[in-house]
Parts: sequence; C-alpha cells; structure tokens
Amino acid sequence: MNFSKLPLTQAMLTNLDALGYAKMTAVQSAALPYILQGRDVMAEAKTGSGKTAAFGIGLLHNLDVKKFRVQSLVLCPTRELADQVAKELRRLARFQHNIKILMLTGGESFGKQLGSLAHQAHIIVGTPGRILKHLNKESLDLSNLNTLVLDEADRMLDMGFIEEIESLLAFVPKERQTLLFSATYDEEVKKVAHTLLREAAVVKMTAEEKPNVIDELFYETQDKTATLVNVLALKKPKNVIIFTNTKLQAKELAEELVGRKIDALAIHGDLEQYERNDVLVQFSNGSTPILVATDVAARGLDIKELAMVVNYDLPHTKETYTHRIGRTGRAGMQGEAVTLYTTDELEKITEYKDQSKRIFSDADSLEDAQAFTMKPEFVTLVIEGGKKDKLRAGDILGALTGDAGLAGKSIGKIDIYERQAYVAIQTQESKKALSYLKNGKIKKKKFSVWVL
Ligand code: ADP
Ligand code: MG
Repeated sequence: MNFSKLPLTQAMLTNLDALGYAKMTAVQSAALPYILQGRDVMAEAKTGSGKTAAFGIGLLHNLDVKKFRVQSLVLCPTRELADQVAKELRRLARFQHNIKILMLTGGESFGKQLGSLAHQAHIIVGTPGRILKHLNKESLDLSNLNTLVLDEADRMLDMGFIEEIESLLAFVPKERQTLLFSATYDEEVKKVAHTLLREAAVVKMTAEEKPNVIDELFYETQDKTATLVNVLALKKPKNVIIFTNTKLQAKELAEELVGRKIDALAIHGDLEQYERNDVLVQFSNGSTPILVATDVAARGLDIKELAMVVNYDLPHTKETYTHRIGRTGRAGMQGEAVTLYTTDELEKITEYKDQSKRIFSDADSLEDAQAFTMKPEFVTLVIEGGKKDKLRAGDILGALTGDAGLAGKSIGKIDIYERQAYVAIQTQESKKALSYLKNGKIKKKKFSVWVL
C-alpha cells in the first residue's frame, strides 16, 4: 500500500519519498488509518518493521505547529532507544520548519533540560523517570497533550516502569489518544495495557505463532556429568535448564557443576519462597547460565529465550518430555534438547525412536572438554528497598547511568519487589556499580546493597 492512499499532506508525502519510504510496511498500513482517525491503538509487530514511523507519521500529521505546547509524548525504556526515536522523528519532520522535538532522559543535565523546556516543544521523547521529575517540578506542562505513545511497551512494563507511568498519567488529559507499540505483549503486560487504552484498535502483525524449532539429541553414556560438560562445551548455550528427577540430585548436580567452574543454581521444593525467588531472578536476568530443576520446581517458570534443555534424568512419561523440551526453541529461535541415558535405560529409550528427527549418538563421539568453564554475563545486586520505598526502575537506572557513569548497555534486567530490588550488572562493571550504590544515594536516600 502506498502512503498516498492516506490523507497526508503533499509535503509529508514528498519527504517520505525523499527518505526512500516507497511503500508502507505492514504495521504502518494496518495502524496508520486508525491513528489518523484519532483512535487508540495497541500494535504488535516484530523488530525492524517500521513501528517508529507508524506512530511518528501519525503524531506529525495531527500536530498544530502554530500552537507552542507539548502535544505528543513518546515514552521509551532507555536513553538509547529514546535517542533513536527522536532521530527518526526529526527525519520524518523535515517537511515542515519549526517542529520542535525535545529529548528528556535520565543521565543528562537537568539544568540544560530546563533551559530547553523554556523554549517550548511540540513533541517530547524520553524516559519515564526524568519526565516525571520535570512534571513534579512543574518545569513540564502536559495539560495540552493529545497523544501519548509507549514504545517498546513490553519492555517498559517489564522493567517495572508501570508505577512511574501511572504517576505520569495524573498530569496528562484523560481525553487523549494512546498508542502502544511493541514486538511482543505477554499476558501481564496486556492487562496493564488495557488500563491505559480506550476502545483501542488491536493491530497484530506477527504471523501466527511459529512452531518450536528444536534439535533433539540423545546420548548414551556411562558418565552423565562428563557427557553433560562435553555437550555444553560443544554447543556453548547462553542459558540451560537441566532436569533431574529428585531434589537431592538437583542440589548435588548444581554443586558438582560449580565445583567444575560451571556456574549453576538448583531449584527444588525444599527452598523457601525467598530463596526460590533469588534463584529465578538470577537465572532470568543472566546472572547464572544454568538452572538445575525438578519438574515440580520448574512449574510456572517462564523464561522467554531458553537456548537448551537437558534431560539429565529420563522423564517418567513422554508428556513430561514434551513439556520439558517445549521450553526451548520458542518464537522461531533454534533450541536444543539433550537427553542423557545409560545402557541400563536402553529399553526405555526405544519409545523415543518413533520420530526420525531425533538423533541418537554414543557419548564417545563427543570431544572431551572436561576443562570447560561457564561464567555468567551478569551479576545481581540486591538493593534493600522496593515498591514500599517508592523505588522505581528509572531511579536505579538513573543513579547508575547518571552519577555512577555506567553505560546503559551494562545494566540488565531490573526487578522490583515490595521490599527489595534486583539489578543485573555486566560482570566487569559490577564492582563499580556496587561501590557507587553502597556509598552513593538513590533518590537522595541511602540503601544497603549487596551481591546476590
Ligand atoms: P521497529 O521500531 O519496528 O523495530 P524502526 O521503526 O526502527 O523499527 O524501523 C526500522 C527501519 O525501517 C528504520 O531504518 C526505518 O528508517 C525503516 N523504515 C520505516 N518505515 C519504512 C518504510 N515505509 N519503507 C522503508 N523503510 C522504512
Ligand atoms: Mg522501535
């Protein structure tokens, strides 16, 4: 579909042409008609599908340039993403002089931002924490806002920005257009999303769920742990869940792997709730590459991108097998499922030979790699403060990227609970982050901080 099918100005069409945007992308042609009508939209389309221009063209079309008031606000989860969005909006806005687009993100001088705000802007692109700060200090007025956009909505809500967004909504007219754009929406995010939207048009571009793509490898071995190490060395998976049939086995295997300098944690029914939580946080944020689990303990565990599943012990039923390996190879990504069995288990294994895609090998065919080690990419810092202390992801991100001087990319997932917050920091930066957080302040308050 051509952009000229839309009720856009000739100047805008000429600019799109100059940018080399010959045709609308799928999400643009699905979402733009609704956006131009003023409807709320919740759009789901994969990365690189042109979501920025989808909402950007809409914002620019509805803008009254003569009115020097903030008319659109785009919220992004990080400074880097806000920067990308602002750049794309500026390219799209070249068709008309005097459109003022201002970036307001954490980690930049507040004073400078005050100066820029004094000159008024039409469109603000930024991160929730800093925008809220300006609202609270009354240096930003959103009472004329027409359109609110949440870009990368799933990440924003995932990173615990929801409270900041809720506080921010108090400064925004109820009569407004709200646009959510994201590559994915999980169930929780969808629930929150609907509280922000009104009679939204739902636009979903991802073709129907792709089936899991899983390599299923079986190894006959007399030494399961040695074979496991050889497989890990061969495949070098980013993260792995290893299934055992008993709690004791889970604990012992994790200990043995750690003894071999392969970082692992066990999760089993004997853990207290808080211990279980600590383990899950560390696995999901990349602070440990391996989780050794029993089936019961792994129930309800939702890790989006799991590279490998290992059946250290054969599952009791084939349903359990399917359930276990179904955790990898999601969303079109390649997954590996490795099953280890001994000669004594040969009979049980025959029932797995009903599918030709399964590959059965002797563990002796694997290269010996007993010196192989695995270290996590991130370290988890625990901050003794959470929702109760009104601590938000943006505050932690701001403290680390601003005063502590860490790059945004060295900060991983942030999980905020009632009384505690967990932040993943790239290993090489973790000492710096820890010493800053220990000695410095977050939101003008001191918190105790330790390494998990
Ligand atoms: P997303 O946010 O969906 O991940 P982006 O908005 O960053 O994707 O767009 C990805 C790339 O596609 C950008 O380089 C952008 O300039 C380009 N692009 C957007 N719309 C079009 C279009 N209609 N035709 C050609 N290229 C486009
Ligand atoms: Mg994008």
